[in-house]
Amino acid sequence: MEREVESMREYYDSGKTKEASWRASQLEGLRAFLTDQQHDIFHALMQDLGKHHLESFRDEIGTLIKSLNFALKHLKQWMSPGKAELPRIALLTSAEIVAEPLGLVLIMSSWNFPFGLSLEPLIGAVAAGNTVVLKPSELSSASASLLASALPNYLDNKAIKVIQGRPEVAEQLLFQKWDKIFFTGSPRVGRIVMSAAAKHLTPVTLELGGKCPAVVDSLSSSWDREVAAKRIIVGKFGACAGQACIAIDYILVGKEFASTLVELIKVWIKKMFGEKPSESNTIARIINKQHFFRLKNLLSDPKVKESVIYGGSMDEEHLFIEPTILVDPPLEAAIMSEEIFGPLLPIVTLEKIEDSIKFINSRPKPLALYVFTKNQSLQGRMVSETSSGSVTFNDAILQYAADSLPFGGVGESGFGNYHGKFSFDTFSHQKGVLRRSFLTDFWFRYPPWTTTKFQELEASYNYDYLGLLLVLLGLKTSPKRL
Ligand code: NAD
Repeated sequence: MEREVESMREYYDSGKTKEASWRASQLEGLRAFLTDQQHDIFHALMQDLGKHHLESFRDEIGTLIKSLNFALKHLKQWMSPGKAELPRIALLTSAEIVAEPLGLVLIMSSWNFPFGLSLEPLIGAVAAGNTVVLKPSELSSASASLLASALPNYLDNKAIKVIQGRPEVAEQLLFQKWDKIFFTGSPRVGRIVMSAAAKHLTPVTLELGGKCPAVVDSLSSSWDREVAAKRIIVGKFGACAGQACIAIDYILVGKEFASTLVELIKVWIKKMFGEKPSESNTIARIINKQHFFRLKNLLSDPKVKESVIYGGSMDEEHLFIEPTILVDPPLEAAIMSEEIFGPLLPIVTLEKIEDSIKFINSRPKPLALYVFTKNQSLQGRMVSETSSGSVTFNDAILQYAADSLPFGGVGESGFGNYHGKFSFDTFSHQKGVLRRSFLTDFWFRYPPWTTTKFQELEASYNYDYLGLLLVLLGLKTSPKRL
């Protein structure tokens, strides 16, 4: 592994990956991989997670192609140095910001969107001109194998490598020196990544998870209610069966609207997944037995079990869990403190919807906050009085696809962000470049120090060039002390 890493560093030093044409060719290679291999990608996602191909296209292939098109369209502009403003006193001086690649980067991804969460950061890393080692999760093994076997046919293998393996392989990788580590996964492994990175002072981006609440205000129009119910179901059960970092984890709703909402959700679950969801191929399966039993255990507490008002059936052989609704499970139960990451949806009723602000603020900062309301004042309060990676009003998940928005967490849900230009910036160093002429030079910068020089120096910080000239000619007084 050391030799591998060393050869990639040498390749980076050759300067090849900094060329605009190389970056564009890798992005085009990625796009060709997604289109040529579409069928195999569908197959791998079906094997790993039982994802319907429409869901796979929507959440992985389609979203990635959109991101690649955006990156290819803006690559030249992102790479161009940005002009930086200087004070007017800085005569014959210019400043610019140059984005330079960081070098050799490690991307570690999770299993729930094995293509999206591996290739979305890869887009940013190659657009920024880095060499990259990608370590996909071993749990989505069919997808990881496809990435390892097919991706090299489309990309420059000297610069981009896929390394598969269990956590021990990840540990060995973390032992190496990287110029950046981009990690998507759990807060537990995030801590391991950060301490390994600290040894080499390597910068990290941590894309973690947590519990994402959806606040649902009383909606008076029946159209709005139906649309909200459908979006909630897709934002939970339709997002890899709830195994998504930005899936709705639980709902907060005022007492007067709770029963209306529950009834609508029940009706729409049946419409979307049929009377027998276990026979439906439109809902993904749980990734493995360990996660299946983790989810089953969340319901094992008798008080939690009592709160189940819909669903609850499980099929261990096919790793299937029915969309399940719980109303007011005990707040101290694991289902209300741990990230659920599966198709169990607790609904917590509150006296009034405004109480949701206090509820959210009393828990770790979520990656995403969803609020279904037309009330402008509540929308304003949600943005200004709570903290989360993002806030989405009247929908769920969609913020992930917006190239113009940074995607990332805050507090326990992680730090750093990516998508669109933010991905490019995440894998770049913003280098400040200052250019001076020899023609203008101020004597008061240099010792020996005198009272006059002090006044002139003071004036240079407070005035523009003309102001300073007037002070020097004795036509203007020096400014008050700074
Ligand atoms: P995980 O932390 O178990 O694994 C993530 C990666 O870390 C994998 O590549 C795995 O091989 C590696 N790994 C596992 N154990 C390791 C160890 N001991 N040392 C070094 N590396 C190790 O996470 P997961 O189960 O794949 O994903 C679920 C979590 O990820 C959830 O918390 C979810 O919210 C979060 N997530 C976040 C995002 C996001 O974009 N913010 C997206 C998807 C998932």
